[in-house]
Parts: sequence; C-alpha cells; structure tokens
Amino acid sequence: MGMVKKARKCPPRFRILTPGFSIPSNIIMSTQNITSTNTHKLSGKVAIVTGASKGIGASIAKHLAAAGAAVVVNYSSSKEGADKVVADIAAAGGKAIAVQANVANKAEIERLFAESKEAFGQLDILVNNAGIYEIAPLGQITNEHFHRLFDLNVLGLILTTQEALNHFGPEGGSIINISSIVSASSPADQSVYNATKSAVDGLTRTFAKELGQRKIRVNSINPGPIETEGTHSTGFIDRFQTLIPTIPLGRIGQPQDIAPGVVFLASSDSEWMTGETLYVTGGLH
Ligand code: NDP
Repeated sequence: MGMVKKARKCPPRFRILTPGFSIPSNIIMSTQNITSTNTHKLSGKVAIVTGASKGIGASIAKHLAAAGAAVVVNYSSSKEGADKVVADIAAAGGKAIAVQANVANKAEIERLFAESKEAFGQLDILVNNAGIYEIAPLGQITNEHFHRLFDLNVLGLILTTQEALNHFGPEGGSIINISSIVSASSPADQSVYNATKSAVDGLTRTFAKELGQRKIRVNSINPGPIETEGTHSTGFIDRFQTLIPTIPLGRIGQPQDIAPGVVFLASSDSEWMTGETLYVTGGLH
C-alpha cells in the first residue's frame, strides 16, 4: 500500500521504456526482424476475394498479393476490370487468376472454388467482399430490392462460407467479411442495405463460434464511406461529400484505407482474434 517502485539501474543490454519497465535489447532486435520480413507475411497462402474487379475488392486483392498470397480475383461481369487487377498483381511479381462467378448462386460458387483449387491447390483465406448497395426509403422497398441485396450480401456470404469449409485444410483459415459502418450508424433511406450488413455482423460472430474448433477465424471489417466505382455509379458519393465535416480524419476513405486491415486479419498477426468487428471509418461513428 502506498509503495512507489523506483526505476532500477539497468545493465546496458536493457533499454528503459518508462521508469520501472524495461525489455531486453535482444527482444527489440527480434521485433525489428519480424517487421522487416512482414512484407511477405502471407507467403504460401491462397486467397479468394469475391467482387475484386474494382473498388475495395480490387485493392484487397492487390494488398494480399503484395503480402505474398496467390489470389483468386472473382468478378461478376467486369472481365476487363478483373484482368487488369490480375495484370497489376503479375507486374508487381505476384500470382493471381481471374474467375467469373455470381456469388449469389450456389453452383457458380462451387465452380469458383473448384477453379481456385485447380489453379493453386489449396485455400487459406476467403474475403467476402462482393456486395451491393441501393437507396430505398421505406415506401420504395420492393421484393426485388430486398432479394437483390439479401441474396448477394447475406445468402451469398453464407454459401461461400459453407463452400470454403470444403477447401480449408487442417491448418484452418481466415475469413474476412466486408460489412459496413451502416450496421451501426443506421442512415435513413438504406434500411434493407443496413439490415444486410447487420446480418453480416451477426453471422461473423456466430460463425466464429462454430468454426473456431477447426482453426477457422471469422472477422469483419466495417468500412466508412469509401470512394469506389460503385459509390460513383450509384450516386452515394454525393451523400459522402456532405459527411466530410463529421469525419474526424476529414476525408472520404479510399479502397487502400481498407485493404491493410484485411491483410492483418488474414495473417497470423491476428491469430487470436475471431468474431471481431473492425471499424475503419476515419473516426466516423
Ligand atoms: P463496387 O460496386 O465498386 O464493386 C463491387 C464488386 O463486387 C465488383 O467487383 C463487382 O463485380 C462485384 N460483384 C457485384 N455483384 C457480384 C456478384 N453477384 N458476384 C460476384 N461479384 C459481384 O463496390 P465497393 O467496392 O464500393 O464495395 C465493396 C464492398 O464493400 C461491398 O460489400 C459494400 O457493401 C462494402 N462497403 C462499401 C462501402 C463504400 O463506401 N464503398 C462502405 C462500406 C462497405 P462486377 O464489376 O463484375 O460486377
């Protein structure tokens, strides 16, 4: 009680951090070594990224490849975009293939995973990124709108996760779901989209509990407003501009603001994390 510990005088092989705390200098050196080899922290791993022909998915594919993973660049209709992502990865010395598949469709998902296995022989990482968003105030919600969003954003994610279980090896794997800030911020006029991403958050937590025993980790990244092809074509970008004064870091995000977090969740750096929701929003809540 009331006893204040004084900092002891340390021998030269110790570096003092704060009074009373010190770590051996050899540990500091080994940390530096880890950092210097971390550029290839996913070497020997294979990743599937759904919806990777553009936007956030394209950046995720490139960052995973830069970290050493062989990457399957899935797309729905933009072959040119997917081929460009594959070419960019190859030009940077990485490995990738493009595979067309509508990931709201079970048979096409099975083909996507089979083609990935044929090309790279294994699966370690699944990024469930493909998703769509649309404005629809309550009075404008239709069956078609509901099913368009839920069939891809929720059912598609469930089906790809099911199929991944047939391909992860005994070492397990990492699943990263791209959810959204909307599941927490609940903006007006996006109730069905919000409901799909709230479902993704729930699925992430539940699947984490079901799959932990197989060493399969499941986490989500919930981005804030990001400038992408999709946010331009849907007009969301105009709404985002009005949000800038409320974003603590003072700008709309870019796809490369999201991708490094995916690399972290895919790698052993996060090996004791599962069922988590990582908000990457520039501080917006
Ligand atoms: P984009 O619209 O820019 O890109 C969507 C990607 O998904 C494209 O590669 C598209 O392929 C693919 N895709 C669409 N439908 C299917 C399908 N049925 N099967 C396979 N692939 C499909 O989207 P963003 O990059 O903006 O968004 C990506 C994810 O991030 C989504 O889940 C979204 O909800 C989430 N998100 C986005 C935010 C943002 O502000 N942009 C914020 C928070 C979350 P193709 O081009 O071939 O159609």
